[in-house]
Amino acid sequence: MSVFKSYKTTCSYCGVGCGIIANKDAKGVMTVSGDPDHPVNRGMLCSKGMNLHHVVQDKSDRILYPEMRWSKGHDRQRVSWDQAFDKAAAVFNAMIRKYGPDSVGFYVSGQCLTEEYYLVNKLAKGFIGTNNVDTNSRLCMSSAVVGYKQALGEDSVPITYDDIELADCFMIAGANPAWCHPILYRRIEAHKEKNPNTKIIVVDPRKTQSCDIADLHLQILPGTDVALYNAIARRLIDRKKIDKNFIANHTDNFEELKKSLMAMSISEASKICGVSVADIKKAASYIADAKGFITMWAMGLNQSSIGVNKNNALLNLSLLTGHIGKPGSGPFSLTGQPNAMGGREVGGMANLLAVHKDLANDEHRREVANFWGGKEISGKPGLTATEMFDALESGKLKAVWVICTNPLVSLPNANKVEKALKQAKFVIVQDISYRSETTEYADLLLPAAGWAEKEGTMTNSERRITHLSKVVDPPGEAMSDSEILWNFARKMGYRGFDYNTVEEVYKEHCTLTKGTSIDITGLNYTRLKNEGSFQWPVPQNNHPGTSRLFEDKKFHTDTSNAKFVIPRFVKPTSELITEKYPLILTTGRVRDQWHTRTKTGKVNKLLTHIRDPYLEISQVDAFLRKLNDGDIAVIESKRGKVQVKIKITDTISKGVVFLPMHWGKVLGNDYGRANNLTTSIVDPISKEPDFKFSAVQVSKYEKA
Ligand code: SF4
Repeated sequence: MSVFKSYKTTCSYCGVGCGIIANKDAKGVMTVSGDPDHPVNRGMLCSKGMNLHHVVQDKSDRILYPEMRWSKGHDRQRVSWDQAFDKAAAVFNAMIRKYGPDSVGFYVSGQCLTEEYYLVNKLAKGFIGTNNVDTNSRLCMSSAVVGYKQALGEDSVPITYDDIELADCFMIAGANPAWCHPILYRRIEAHKEKNPNTKIIVVDPRKTQSCDIADLHLQILPGTDVALYNAIARRLIDRKKIDKNFIANHTDNFEELKKSLMAMSISEASKICGVSVADIKKAASYIADAKGFITMWAMGLNQSSIGVNKNNALLNLSLLTGHIGKPGSGPFSLTGQPNAMGGREVGGMANLLAVHKDLANDEHRREVANFWGGKEISGKPGLTATEMFDALESGKLKAVWVICTNPLVSLPNANKVEKALKQAKFVIVQDISYRSETTEYADLLLPAAGWAEKEGTMTNSERRITHLSKVVDPPGEAMSDSEILWNFARKMGYRGFDYNTVEEVYKEHCTLTKGTSIDITGLNYTRLKNEGSFQWPVPQNNHPGTSRLFEDKKFHTDTSNAKFVIPRFVKPTSELITEKYPLILTTGRVRDQWHTRTKTGKVNKLLTHIRDPYLEISQVDAFLRKLNDGDIAVIESKRGKVQVKIKITDTISKGVVFLPMHWGKVLGNDYGRANNLTTSIVDPISKEPDFKFSAVQVSKYEKA
């Protein structure tokens, strides 16, 4: 292909945030390659990233024009943007007038660009007067947000990817980076190849592909992480392998933690978590000997009824050993989505306020409200992801606006979500593709521009902000999400949305960060385009960005010390395993699919890896049910059923089964939708659902 023009951008899939060069030829045909100058991936891309251009090029599934149902029960018809905005504004105004601002809500996505996230929060919290803005990031990292806030005083990821090459011990817990964060995994793998003495501990109920480089795989029973990390912590204390100076000078609550840890012996903990005492001691000895220790975790910890507790227990290991704020060390939660971190920066959740200010703090709310020039901001947290759909079902929430996400497949207890969408008074869906099953329930469907069709910024897992270029025009009448939001706001009569470009939105966001711990007043599009990506904070125009946080050991708590938080539960508080539902279902991801397959599902090359959903089951559990490899099985929970082929494997323990979460309707049938089965139980603090512990039964499928 002869290249007409090249653009720098960022991958729109996982939180690793790889830099991409998008090339366009004279006919507008696009190809992609890894950006060799980008510090994250240095030219590499995984299978998903290297096929991104196919997603842009194939327009067969795209929503091209606004569509509207003139009344419930009727088909949608094509309308103009003017008609669409009139209708949206009329419905929202009517609901707000009749039932109050909390009768409407926005459910958005970690794939939204920072500018879009900023606008939807400004619109809802600052002008409509509701905090009912939540995001699908609630489903993947809200427990980590709370964990960081409790321990470090703020939602701040302390480390940088460059710490990987400086560490000599990793604990990868509840994450499978080999498949879900492949380029990051490749860096760890390459580091291990060069430095074979580097120790890698993987904690996972499944023996995943990430175990290929592990020195130690701790195959815990689902949900029992706290018992394991507490036992390791106890062993470190017993052997005096803790950093006494760091603990004495930079932490609070050590004695309380010690007392609570001493209440359980290592052998008791071993019985709870299913990991031998010898392996617990071995893990502790690897950590004790490390000069640089990184803990790395994702959904396996966060998606739990005790997700915050699991985060607390893991964070305690870094604090006990003083492995934070120094090279090659620190706790590191991986974000699943490309801009989950950017969403957190703009306060893109129902309980957050912009730029890491505190929603519960009157002064903070006043500052933000004054800056926006709209209404007073309510101090009452809004509805979180699952609460929003519960409220739709009960009728408390009248209208929901879904942006760039597919809750019908991704939220737990999908049959309940379907009922909620059917019962809602009004549903607006703003997306790129009809492949999102949620579009079926839209009363108003708005065509959005996708990746490479719009400009903006995103922040990856290590706080690195990258600019994304517009490469091609969106098809039909599709509009960028920012334009849709500011046009709607103007139609509502709100002042302060008279932007002409997304750059103006970004400038405003940067100004609001002034003086905060995420200060990026030194950033602008020109710097991002000319100098590349930056890690926040970037407080001055000539500031190079901040790769590592807390090097001064000053944490953002009331005492400036990090806090040991004592986890309240050592066992999951999810639903009970019963005779009727005797197996624990855990859900997760496969290498070449992404979320609910609205993008990856249409790329043929990505289907060659795994085409259909399947259930992983142990030899013993399959034998007990007279199941052979490849048989179709029915998996059933209190909430619903699915039918998939089974895969008998020795990588999963007896009593546990695994189902990928990506599939929704296959051939018009929802037989593979894992969330038909999952429980709606959430962590009481983070409100993150427990996708890793649902009670199910598996039996052979018999034709009726
Ligand atoms: Fe994209 Fe993540 Fe793959 Fe990088 S590792 S190319 S960000 S999907």
